[in-house]
Amino acid sequence: MSDDSFLFYQSRSPRPFLDHGEGIYLFDESGKRYIDGSSGAMVSNIGHSNPRVLAKMKAQMDKATFGYRLHFRTRPSEELAAKTVAMTPEGLDRVFFVSGGSEAVESATKLARQYALTQGQESRYKVISRFPSYHGCTLGALALTGYAPLRDPFAPMMQAMPSIAAPATYLDRDNLSEDERGLKYAELLRDRIIEEGPDTVLAFLMEPVGGASTGALVAPDSYYGRVREICDEFGVLLIYDEVMTGAGRTGKFLAAEHWGITPDIVALSKGFGAGYAPLGAIIAGAHLVDPVLDAGGFLHGFTYAGNPMACSAGLAVLEEIEDQGLIDNAARMGEVLMAQLHILMDRYPFIGDVRGKGLLTAFEFVADRDTMAPLPPEMDAYARLVELAYERGLIIYSRRTRGGTAGDHFLLAPPLIITEAQIIEMIAILRDALDAFAEETGL
Ligand code: PLP
Repeated sequence: MSDDSFLFYQSRSPRPFLDHGEGIYLFDESGKRYIDGSSGAMVSNIGHSNPRVLAKMKAQMDKATFGYRLHFRTRPSEELAAKTVAMTPEGLDRVFFVSGGSEAVESATKLARQYALTQGQESRYKVISRFPSYHGCTLGALALTGYAPLRDPFAPMMQAMPSIAAPATYLDRDNLSEDERGLKYAELLRDRIIEEGPDTVLAFLMEPVGGASTGALVAPDSYYGRVREICDEFGVLLIYDEVMTGAGRTGKFLAAEHWGITPDIVALSKGFGAGYAPLGAIIAGAHLVDPVLDAGGFLHGFTYAGNPMACSAGLAVLEEIEDQGLIDNAARMGEVLMAQLHILMDRYPFIGDVRGKGLLTAFEFVADRDTMAPLPPEMDAYARLVELAYERGLIIYSRRTRGGTAGDHFLLAPPLIITEAQIIEMIAILRDALDAFAEETGL
């Protein structure tokens, strides 16, 4: 917010006016160029101003920009649903469109609840989530979000749902193997379901690779399969929040594919519309959706859901992802980026961890690598490095790590079209910013 603006957002720090985008770059009105190192908020997966996508959107715009879904079926929404199912692993074959991530998470939990009702399971209403986690800012999604600074100010107007610890194994100092650690964290879910009473638990909600709240946290491989087993044991539905990880960002269309998991419901947004339109979706198995339809229909829907403009953009985005082989590129470039992050970690003692999957990567600052103690929160390192990078023409994304009260992590998640040379260019700017940070702080 600045003095000449009527808009209000979170930050009071004035930013320059955006002029235009091109590929991985954004330009402000003064002509300054920025590498979009975080795809905005992990959104612009196919880069900016893709001419083929714009042409397809324009063609739809010339025909009709809106047709209410109760009045008409539209070709773009049908085609996007079919394409989404085709790109998604088997077992997830029904699609419901929304306009963003929070809507997708809320829609997923409502679908789960309605399905449970068709099964005579009225007592199941609790959704267990994890902390830290981020699932959205609407009140329902916030109630499932494990990020204190965003959630707590709104308590007790929302009933907070139960949560268990996310597997932040990089902080653990036990003698367990990675596999054993994964199982240890999965058992937290089993214990919690039993504690809550299995017949009250509707679903378990998780980000397969953590996003803004944890900084690209990946669990040990053993975690994913065991969580699926535990959900099956108790008839608890497994909801994957792939709002950030979906649509190819981690090197698979869904991150779930890395572990061969079929969730019951998946929430998608961000890279699905890739910044060309506000778009999200839930994808679920027919075995779950059909009983709801048979019982009278899903009691849910947003006015803008499935509108032809947004869906024509989404369809064009998925076609680009396929035609340009962007999912494979995300996997390959993810490895290049991760190798570069390890080099940075060797150079800066205050980088305590680097992690991620595909092109969803992060590094975290610490005061001490042995104890993984965070830097003092009053240093605001998470905000400072972002500014130093921004001044130098690189956009990165940062948050507090440890539940929102301390810790500093930085997400590097460039558009999936990035080349190796552009990664080197991005890292050079980041190194310059890190040098400045080290000099300023004496770290
Ligand atoms: N879920 C995850 C994993 C997210 O990262 C986000 C946004 O950052 C959301 C849900 C909420 O999405 P939106 O901001 O589009 O409502």
